[in-house]
Amino acid sequence: MHGWGDWLDLIFPRACALCSAPLLDTGERGLCGGCFAGLSPIENGCLRCGAPLPESKTKSRKRGKAKAVRCPICETSSLAVTRVFAFSIYAGPAIKIARKMKESQHEPLAEQMGRSVADWLLAETPFAIEHYDALIPIPQHWFRRLAARYNQSEALANGISRRFGCPIEDRWVHRTRWTPKQGMKTIAERRENMRRAFEVPPKFAPRVHGRSFLLVDDVMTSGATLDQAAWALKQRGARLVDAVVFARGLGAAKAVSSKTA
Ligand SMILES: [Zn+2]
Ligand SMILES: [Zn+2]
Repeated sequence: MHGWGDWLDLIFPRACALCSAPLLDTGERGLCGGCFAGLSPIENGCLRCGAPLPESKTKSRKRGKAKAVRCPICETSSLAVTRVFAFSIYAGPAIKIARKMKESQHEPLAEQMGRSVADWLLAETPFAIEHYDALIPIPQHWFRRLAARYNQSEALANGISRRFGCPIEDRWVHRTRWTPKQGMKTIAERRENMRRAFEVPPKFAPRVHGRSFLLVDDVMTSGATLDQAAWALKQRGARLVDAVVFARGLGAAKAVSSKTA
C-alpha cells in the first residue's frame, strides 16, 4: 500500500481540513490527531441501529446476560436493514466533517474518513467483511448527481473498499424519485417521505438474489433512508443488508427514549 500512500500525499492538502493545523508525516491524513480524537464513537450502542442505549441496558450487556440488546425503536419496529454500524455521534467535529464531505472539493477527506471507518470496523466491532458481496453507497437522485457530479457516500465507500477490497456496486440501487429534504420531519414523516424511494432495476435482480450487502451513507438520522434502500434489495431477494454510516444523529433515539422513559 506504500505506493497508494505516496499518491495520497500528492492530493491531500498538508493541513487539517478542520483546524488548518499542519499535518504530521506519521499517519495524519485529512485531519490532525486532535480533530480526529474529537470524533465520538458510540459505545455499546443498539445492536441493530447503533443508537446509544439507556444505561440499564448497557449494564446488563456487560454482565453478559443480554445478547441482542436493542433500543426502544428497534424493539417495536421491523426494519429491512439488519444492523447499522455508526462510526461517530453526529456532534462536534463530526458535523463539520459531514458538511465538508458533501462538497466535491473535499472528496479526499471523504475517502480518508472511509478508510478510518474501515479501520474502526475491523478493530472495534465483530466485523467480518467477507460476509458482504458488495458495498452499496446510498445513491442520490440522478438530477442531483448530475448537478453535483459527486456523491459523498460513494467517496466514503471508495475509502472503505480500498481497505477491505470489497467491490462497490453503485448501479444496483436506484433512487426512484426526488425526495423532499427530511429537515424537521418526525420519524413517521421521514419513513413516509422515503417510502419506495429506491428500487433495484430488474436487470440486476439475479445479481442481488441471495447475496449480502453493506450500505454506505454519510449521516443517518432516523434510519428511514437506509431502511428503504435495504427494503429495495430485500425485494430482489437479498439475503442480508447491513449498513455503515460516518455519523449517526441522536435526535430520533433521544425522542423515543424520553417518551418511553
Ligand atoms: Zn485539526
Ligand atoms: Zn436501535
